[in-house]
Amino acid sequence: MGELNNKNMEDCLFCKIIDKQLDSEIVHEDDTCVAFKDINPKARIHLLIVPRKHIAKISDMEEGDEKIIGHLIKVAKDLAEKHECKGYQLLFNVGKEAGQIIFHVHLHLMGH
Ligand code: 5GP
Ligand code: ZN
Repeated sequence: MGELNNKNMEDCLFCKIIDKQLDSEIVHEDDTCVAFKDINPKARIHLLIVPRKHIAKISDMEEGDEKIIGHLIKVAKDLAEKHECKGYQLLFNVGKEAGQIIFHVHLHLMGH
């Protein structure tokens, strides 16, 4: 399976989670993003904050998308506080060489 882009988002796992065609444990939703628990958590709290807009990877950002990405960071901060994280990591994997396996932008929140 190749990398997904805006032209084949109908095959995108995270678009299906956002559309609730697939189950997930959603912890936050708003007009811009959805946040849900990572299926294979690597920290006490491991959430994925995902824009409703299908952007395959950070390197595909278009003019104006910085507002969306900034919003993901704000939501991650709020969720870290809500889950009483003492410290946390925020991570975007960009490209398969960096370990990106789902080609719909997602911010990892790993809380400790
Ligand atoms: P990436 O390596 O692309 O940055 O991270 C993808 C993340 O998505 C991984 O941490 C993986 O555990 C998570 N993931 C993959 N498939 C699913 C799924 O079907 N549901 C949920 N909730 N998380 C998933
Ligand atoms: Zn998608």
